[in-house]
Amino acid sequence: MAVETTYTAPSAGRLFFALWVPPACAGTLHAMAGAVVGRSGGRLMREDTLHLTLAFLGDIAERRLPALLEHAAGLSLPRVPVCLDRLGFWAQNHILFAGSSAPDPALGALADSLQESLKEAGFLAETRAFVPHVTMLRKLLHPGKLPALPAQAWEAEEFALVRSWRSDRGAAYETVARWPLQAAVVS
Ligand code: ATP
Ligand code: MG
Repeated sequence: MAVETTYTAPSAGRLFFALWVPPACAGTLHAMAGAVVGRSGGRLMREDTLHLTLAFLGDIAERRLPALLEHAAGLSLPRVPVCLDRLGFWAQNHILFAGSSAPDPALGALADSLQESLKEAGFLAETRAFVPHVTMLRKLLHPGKLPALPAQAWEAEEFALVRSWRSDRGAAYETVARWPLQAAVVS
């Protein structure tokens, strides 16, 4: 009798590249999201998990991880200004996020060039239009009137490869590696 086996290659997990939100901004966003939860409910993201996703890879086979790390290490990507100055709500996925009313084009260019390079190297099947945002709160059904967000601005100096999984405390993230973004060369 033939025995059928299905072999699933070991996975490195759900991976994504992101900019981490600096502690001062994370504190502000977390406090504002906490106030919204107090009024309207929802599930608060933990302060230390706040991030801005640049490229989402999904499940990557464990054996491809060394090549992915090498690829990322070989990139030369510039530092970028980030400015979050508005809260927004997506009714389709019940997410409250911090975004930019006028994102600096350099941030979109960074995400685009990272996504393009990952696509060319075969790590990304499709590239998606990049919408810079930091998820603050999930499962929000009725946001009510959102508070104004005082502008939170910084320069991103590094990017990270992150593994995500679902824990009983919500999404959990682990930084796999991080690399510096390059300062502009003044000539
Ligand atoms: P959970 O899905 O468990 O509620 P999560 O959305 O934070 O938590 P992931 O789904 O692993 O965890 O996503 C990690 C990051 O990548 C998040 O910032 C998420 O918004 C983003 N992301 C997820 N799926 C996509 C996608 N298809 N395209 C672009 N970004 C995505
Ligand atoms: Mg998700």
